[in-house]
Amino acid sequence: MSNFIDFGLAKKQIDMQENKNKITQLFQIQYPIIQGGMIWHSGWRLASAVSNSGGLGLIGAGSMYPDILRENIQKCKQATQKPFGVNIPMLYPNLDEIIQIVLEEGVKIVFTSAGNPKTYTEALQKEGLKVAHVVSSTKFAMKCEDAGVDAVVAEGFEAGGHNGRDETTTFCLIPNVRQHISKPLIAAGGIALGSQIKAAMVLGADGVQIGSRFAATTEASAHEDWKNKIIQLQEGDTHLTLKELAPVRLVKNKFFNDLEAVYQQGRNVKNLKTTLGRARAKKGMFEGNLDEGELEIGQVSALINEVLPVEQVFQQLLKEFDATGHPSI
Ligand code: NDP
Repeated sequence: MSNFIDFGLAKKQIDMQENKNKITQLFQIQYPIIQGGMIWHSGWRLASAVSNSGGLGLIGAGSMYPDILRENIQKCKQATQKPFGVNIPMLYPNLDEIIQIVLEEGVKIVFTSAGNPKTYTEALQKEGLKVAHVVSSTKFAMKCEDAGVDAVVAEGFEAGGHNGRDETTTFCLIPNVRQHISKPLIAAGGIALGSQIKAAMVLGADGVQIGSRFAATTEASAHEDWKNKIIQLQEGDTHLTLKELAPVRLVKNKFFNDLEAVYQQGRNVKNLKTTLGRARAKKGMFEGNLDEGELEIGQVSALINEVLPVEQVFQQLLKEFDATGHPSI
């Protein structure tokens, strides 16, 4: 898939082809489309379906105890011959065990997030793995480059789930990161259509990471009620909150209103923690409690109207990418 864009005097080649794109070359995949390793969605079924469709599927270790992670990796290896990876949020005390499992199971690609890219990058690369790290600012993208990562995922304010505090949108973030790093750059946040993939690449990204669109797929491991809720969401139905703890974009449901009530009493961090409690995300997205659970999804959910098999999502993305024209200026 390729497309030649003419902006008057400036010409820019936007190319998704395997042999020309930095991301497809790096991960040995067909299209520079990576599925975000979203917690409670990204088991072996979703990751292998994305990889089998020509993208890069990621198993989301953030919602898996070590034995579950191992099982998912093993099943993913059975379900696809194509490359896939594991997303590891660097927050759990048993992180070393998780890394060990990834190495023992022969995983070739790791996306780390929510931590310092220096911690594991070199050690993983010495074992032959490719490492990408997720950031929400240009400053941290530069730290990733210093840490020697193979690629940087820069995720804008539109994204679902955990997010940066600065509210920098993808539209502003990607060109800035592009100006400051030379490593392959993956744009994330606000991307669910082929036109948005193309826009991200025009802004300087080499590829994209897509979360929300893959959350509403047949293969995602989330609760069916949650998937059906995603496709009903409209513009303005999500909000970035909990900046005092860990900023997160979620649906404005009863749980969100409970948090708002705490804010109105004066931003008491202890009360916010109490209201959040434990395992809210599991309650909402995996157990399907749409009132009391934490429902993490991006702004782009307003553009997602149907739960589809991954293969159909890919067909749509590629068709839209090719169909998107560019006005002359
Ligand atoms: P909580 O501390 O509220 O709860 C932990 C949840 O994670 C529980 O549901 C628990 O399952 C499950 N879990 C899975 N593996 C482990 C493990 N090895 N150790 C402890 N708990 C585990 O956290 P959250 O649910 O808010 O977040 C869970 C993880 O996901 C965190 O690492 C967080 O940073 C990450 N996350 C990432 C997001 C993103 O956008 N990238 C968004 C939200 C969270 P059980 O209930 O069965 O014990």
